[in-house]
Amino acid sequence: MHSFIFELMEQHDYENIFFCQEKTIGLKAMIAIHDTTLGPAAGGVRMKEYETEADAITDALRLARGMTYKCAAAGVPYGGGKCVIIGDPRRDKTEARLRALGRFIHRLNGLFLTGPDSGTNLDDMVVMRMETPYVVTLPESLGGPGDSSEATAFGLVQGMRACLKEVYGSADLQGRTVALQGVGAVGKHAVPYLVEAGAAVTIADIDQVSVRQIRDNYDVRVAYPEEIHAMDVDVYCPCALGGTLNEQSLPELRCKIVCGSANNQLVDDRHGDQLQQRGILYAPDYIVNAGGVLTGLDSLRPGGFNRARAMERVARIYETMEHVIAIAREQNVPTYRAADVLAEQHIAMVRQIKSLAI
Ligand code: NAD
Repeated sequence: MHSFIFELMEQHDYENIFFCQEKTIGLKAMIAIHDTTLGPAAGGVRMKEYETEADAITDALRLARGMTYKCAAAGVPYGGGKCVIIGDPRRDKTEARLRALGRFIHRLNGLFLTGPDSGTNLDDMVVMRMETPYVVTLPESLGGPGDSSEATAFGLVQGMRACLKEVYGSADLQGRTVALQGVGAVGKHAVPYLVEAGAAVTIADIDQVSVRQIRDNYDVRVAYPEEIHAMDVDVYCPCALGGTLNEQSLPELRCKIVCGSANNQLVDDRHGDQLQQRGILYAPDYIVNAGGVLTGLDSLRPGGFNRARAMERVARIYETMEHVIAIAREQNVPTYRAADVLAEQHIAMVRQIKSLAI
């Protein structure tokens, strides 16, 4: 028998894929659950127009597995999942589709906990929440954390400080040079943290309006988007798109540290190996960009969302990054691999504990 879906699922031992279809209102979505050893699967709702169904399934699975690692490395009791709605968010997003998806998520009875991802936003979560309490990332007006990008930026800066400590012996940002690529939701929140801590920040963005807004309010320099990655700085901080660490960019890097929020920065594992060979410390993306997820999940604690507690949790990204660096050193592996080891060790430990009867 020719198998496509089960073969894909076996590759990284996925637990479930739930397909959600409602013909009259035109909903086509799927929810991938990777691993629930640690707890219910957490992951956002992504809406995107995929070329093929296979692309959508592959993306949902890949993203769900990423969430397993992100939650495990951060030490929170949640597994990894992801929901994908097939469609153009500007054209195909309707209240009916979002609410229908909310009802399907409700059927899973808490197995999958969700929030916004690319193509969806907090307003969409409010609509879905009409049908299910398992939408956990909500606006502040509804008792949720609101926009999580500031928490992501705060966590990113803590990860950066741990990298500085490793490379320069001090976590202090005073006098350090940072090249920040992308001043969108995360990047624009990172700027005040960096500037107020005394770092000399250079920014670049393809959107000149965003650049102007930052330049008018903070003491930063501006570089061309094509050259920001190649600046002679202490830290290169990619906060735009994924795939910035690739065959072309790597030989041009002149930084000592790469630490940014962008997802999937390494085009391939070998680029992580090459960074290590060149003596550049790479902060694995899912370690340092976990702040948003950590704040969203705080809403599930008894009594609901508490910002001070959530930010305290996000601040511990510093220790997580230190841990990753320690594993990399002990096992003589690149940091991207050390992050996976940290996550896998945590899952193995919890699996062992859960095998004990109580
Ligand atoms: P965003 O879309 O708000 O901002 C991205 C910015 O990068 C935009 O201003 C865009 O104009 C700019 N940009 C695009 N291409 C560029 C280029 N070639 N050079 C320079 N600038 C460029 O996105 P965001 O929410 O700030 O997220 C940034 C990255 O961090 C993404 O990879 C995202 O997946 C990741 N991330 C975000 C969060 C969050 O809380 N928002 C959490 C985890 C990870």
